[in-house]
Amino acid sequence: MSSVLLSGWGRTMPSVATLRTVSSEEEIAAAIAASHAIIARGLGRSYGDPAQVSGGTVLCSQMSDVGPIDEDGVLQVGAGASLDQLLAECIPQGWFLPVTPGTRQVTIGGAIAADVHGKNHHVDGSFARHVLAMRVVTPTGVATISPDEDGELFWATMGGLGLTGVVASITLKLLKIDTDQVVVDTQRFANLDEVMSEMTEGDADYRYSVAWVDCMTRGANLGRAVLTRGDHARASDVDSVSLRAPTAARLKVPFDAPSGLLNPWTIRAFNEAWFRSSPRHQVAKLESFSSFFHPLDGVGDWNRLYGRRGFVQYQFCVPEGSGDTVRRAIEHLASSGLASFLAVLKRFGPSSPGPLSFPMPGWTLALDLPVGPATLPQVLDDLDELVLSADGRVYLAKDARLSPEKIRAMYPRLDEFREVKNRVDPEHKLTSDLARRLELVGA
Ligand SMILES: Cc1cc2nc3c(=O)[nH]c(=O)nc-3n(C[C@H](O)[C@H](O)[C@H](O)COP(=O)(O)OP(=O)(O)OC[C@H]3O[C@@H](n4cnc5c(N)ncnc54)[C@H](O)[C@@H]3O)c2cc1C
Repeated sequence: MSSVLLSGWGRTMPSVATLRTVSSEEEIAAAIAASHAIIARGLGRSYGDPAQVSGGTVLCSQMSDVGPIDEDGVLQVGAGASLDQLLAECIPQGWFLPVTPGTRQVTIGGAIAADVHGKNHHVDGSFARHVLAMRVVTPTGVATISPDEDGELFWATMGGLGLTGVVASITLKLLKIDTDQVVVDTQRFANLDEVMSEMTEGDADYRYSVAWVDCMTRGANLGRAVLTRGDHARASDVDSVSLRAPTAARLKVPFDAPSGLLNPWTIRAFNEAWFRSSPRHQVAKLESFSSFFHPLDGVGDWNRLYGRRGFVQYQFCVPEGSGDTVRRAIEHLASSGLASFLAVLKRFGPSSPGPLSFPMPGWTLALDLPVGPATLPQVLDDLDELVLSADGRVYLAKDARLSPEKIRAMYPRLDEFREVKNRVDPEHKLTSDLARRLELVGA
């Protein structure tokens, strides 16, 4: 056990806790019993403060065994395993993750606790849909749970940010693949209206879809975008079939960049170069999994480019029919003069039953904003109001700044979550800086 300073990927709001590693369900149970405040942590890829607890215990699981894959693609895996590790086992055997976030440096426990989504949410839903069962250690005991066995605890744990229990292992259904390539169509759009209309009409024809949006252009080019869509290549799409594990990052940011390196001028120049270098319209190009699904994993520690002050990722979703909110959010951002890297725009399909799960059918937009400018807090408050007025919500796995009042409005099923939490953790031992800040626990 050691005392450590921990923060999320955005590097804002660090706090000190005792770090404890565990490698069995018994050790998890003993750590919970010995603590007054405890939370699990995976690879620290959530942006804010859900995987830290000031003055308490932060639990890192070494339960990372990857079991054999049966003929239906079902396997058991320890919650401490990373998606990177899992892919290294699965791809050579012809299987892929049913849902992957934009980085594979995420643990199974973290994927459950955020109920992560990928570029295929409009077709395959979030991670929860593919989990058949899990073993979870709560302050009141150890249980195997599934949609049919204590479904309330199962769904509260999906997207429950580690506050209902520590996940030890899960049973997951994988996706069959023929190759390690994706067939990708890419198209450039002069503005947001054009790209949103194409996504509304055409996304259903593709398993994966994402648009990278420039939030620093205005007028007729407001929200110009590059849309990439695709699906797994079949054996007949490639010259020779390969099933290789992803390769490790070749580059690493060695030190903190000076704060202010990423400013409106440098980011505008980057966005311009990126837009000009993207193909106007390219069809059926083969891409590796790494470059299509996890382009940011090519550079280790890239969050250091934002300097010591760090950055905020603001991701919201709004219901179907609220596309205008996305437009108004981008307009507001573009006119605020704040620097913002390429935003990620996706369409969501049906929600999962988890009371704190983020996705809802409609649109989601994710923005990366360097901390520093005095106007940033007010601009984000304005975006909250826009999102709330459309009955939308902000993603808790990315949040670093919301208030309890806003969360209650954004997550109307919070009381349902609390009821389950109170049943399995009556003393509220499982807590985090985020849970305290947003008053998720208690009442
Ligand atoms: C570059 C990048 C791209 C991303 N892209 C996406 C994306 O496309 N879609 C998406 O949905 N998310 C995305 N994310 C967010 C990320 O997937 C989630 O924040 C995820 O939860 C991080 O997992 P982690 O292992 O790093 O967990 P941590 O950040 O360490 O912890 C996150 C939460 O998981 C809980 N937790 C961890 N282990 C366990 C366990 N064993 N049992 C119970 N709870 C546990 C923690 O308590 C905490 O609440 C992205 C993040 C980055 C940095």
